[in-house]
Amino acid sequence: MNALMSNAPVPPLLPVYKRAAVTFERGEGAYLFDREGRRYLDFGSGIAVTLLGHGHPHLVATLKAQAEKLWHCSNLYGVAAQEQLAERLVAQSFADTVFFCNSGAEALECAIKMARRFQFHRGQPERFGIIAFEGAFHGRTIATISAAGQDKHLEGFRPELPGFDHVPLGDLARVEAAIGPQTAAILIEPIQGEGGIRSAEAGFLAELRRLADEHDLLLIFDEVQTGMGRSGRLFAYQWSGVTPDVMTLAKGLGGGFPIGACLATARAASGMTAGSHGSTFGGNPLACACGNAVLDVLLENGFLARVEELAKRLRHQVEQLAAAYPGVIQGVRGQGFLLGLVCTPPNTEISAKLMARGLLTVPAGDNVVRLLPPLIIGPAEIDQAVATLDEVCQELAGQEAAQ
Ligand code: PLP
Repeated sequence: MNALMSNAPVPPLLPVYKRAAVTFERGEGAYLFDREGRRYLDFGSGIAVTLLGHGHPHLVATLKAQAEKLWHCSNLYGVAAQEQLAERLVAQSFADTVFFCNSGAEALECAIKMARRFQFHRGQPERFGIIAFEGAFHGRTIATISAAGQDKHLEGFRPELPGFDHVPLGDLARVEAAIGPQTAAILIEPIQGEGGIRSAEAGFLAELRRLADEHDLLLIFDEVQTGMGRSGRLFAYQWSGVTPDVMTLAKGLGGGFPIGACLATARAASGMTAGSHGSTFGGNPLACACGNAVLDVLLENGFLARVEELAKRLRHQVEQLAAAYPGVIQGVRGQGFLLGLVCTPPNTEISAKLMARGLLTVPAGDNVVRLLPPLIIGPAEIDQAVATLDEVCQELAGQEAAQ
């Protein structure tokens, strides 16, 4: 052993997460239960993953039935559930084709490779650069931490992958100035999730579309967090009317089963020929069966309309809280069930207080507390969450007044 190395004990789990002192044992609908049997209302959904809550009967039955038939099948062969899921995603979106993988970061890896390969295929291999936005989050691989360009994620992991330019969200002049002979694509989250629920304006997205068309760049929307109904539409881009060339999905796509996807137009995918990309587990039969089951529910008549209605109820109530406690909540951001409370006290403190009262939320950048309930949430659970938020706001406002 190297004498300079620390002898400090390391836990069996690599300590890269600051974990809360709670371990969940089971879930039921919008609730999680810890080892002591305490119930929590889950307004975090495993960071926008468990779209249909916990133990959704259709998801459970589908997964069990697929487990009886086939777990894994190499992509050297046809995979029926994968083909079906691809056809359905294509039918519901701008895309012509889909690549399946296992996570959001992998979906972004595919999108980044696709942009390079698109330009290579057009005879312009020098165009490998991607313009991305400050405050973005695209995953934790070397390419995706380079794409987001955040110092806190790059520290100690440099050198970063070359070619990424970072410009402020919404600053069209800076985007235009960043376009050069090496630029291949523009990459943006329609609503920045980890960055603090910061929305790109529809007009800004439309201008990015125009610039991409003018300069033969691919426009890539990262919908890993915003996609699959979380915004109240199946995909957040559908609010803006602006379509990308490439879109990444993961998180909610499998309702909790790991799966990611990179969707693209035929033109954008033109460089992705046989042998150019792959994944052992990507498009696994269990994962795709779950993806199909999630879509079965999301596409049910009236499901997303109900999400939109209930999301308005939640938004209205938290806006009332913001008005009642301006010293605690400065404002409300987001769309559908991807909401952010911009806080004055530290967001981690507020999230911890909510958790102590049985409500799970997720902190984000910009001192935001995210509310990400499962899409199956009902009005009574929304009211319960708002009552808990009210209690915590009251306590914090009281502390503020006493100071
Ligand atoms: N892109 C966005 C917008 C995300 O929010 C995330 C995760 O939070 C990722 C990519 C990375 O996804 P994963 O953690 O599945 O790799």
